[in-house]
Amino acid sequence: MILPTPGASFRWRQTRAGAALVCEPLERFATHLFTSRTWKLGSRRADLTDHDSWAELAVEMAGPLGVTRVRQVHGRGVVVAKPGSEATPEGDILIASDARLAIAVQAADCVPLLFVDPVKRVVAAAHAGWRGMAAGVPQTTLAALEREFGCRPEDLRVAAGPSIGACCYEVGSEVRNAFMASGWTDDSIRACFHDRPTPTPVNPSIRLRSPSSGCWFFDGWECTRRQLEAAGVLADRIHSAGLCTASHPEAFPSYRRDGDCAGRIAGAIRLA
Ligand SMILES: [Zn+2]
Repeated sequence: MILPTPGASFRWRQTRAGAALVCEPLERFATHLFTSRTWKLGSRRADLTDHDSWAELAVEMAGPLGVTRVRQVHGRGVVVAKPGSEATPEGDILIASDARLAIAVQAADCVPLLFVDPVKRVVAAAHAGWRGMAAGVPQTTLAALEREFGCRPEDLRVAAGPSIGACCYEVGSEVRNAFMASGWTDDSIRACFHDRPTPTPVNPSIRLRSPSSGCWFFDGWECTRRQLEAAGVLADRIHSAGLCTASHPEAFPSYRRDGDCAGRIAGAIRLA
């Protein structure tokens, strides 16, 4: 399989479970990865249980206390992971300060985000589709890190994993309206919503449904960057994998492309 070329800060790493993306500026501080389609999670094969699929990730993350997850609901609820808690609470943002504990989110087109603060020694993982972006998941994660652990935005390093790009992500005007209603500036709206698909040599457009009038192409990567920068994260500490899940059927699952049978990408992180 020829893997697509990620953004400059990322590289592919071969694991026992398959290829994974890592973000080099985070590597010193945290064990982390974004999984690909070759992982059990990425295929949703009928003969695999959810437990089997996540066990594979737990092996690779090698945290003595396993991997903590949340039941994701496209909101902005925050959960601080604690050793010994068995339940899977509801939320879309996970924070951990215990190096024995890995945390993970899953996505199948939404943006998986990983954060590390090497000063306060805290990590976070968050999941945001357009609903989460409109609700301010990136900013909410920063606010929670500051409130719970005294983190400063300028110390944070953030990695945004593969997700559907503006090459392929057609949305209706209701999505754009939701951002306008949540106070986004005209400038940000213009930067995040394009009136036509914006393919690149790395991310070709895939026509996922017949074109409809009044549609927009949503750029979740730009949306992420703007929210983080507005909240004080330094521009050169925000890293995007720059790979569209829909454009690369061989490498990534995509809900838009594959529907209900789509597998998932996991974004997982643990303090080094
Ligand atoms: Zn695409």
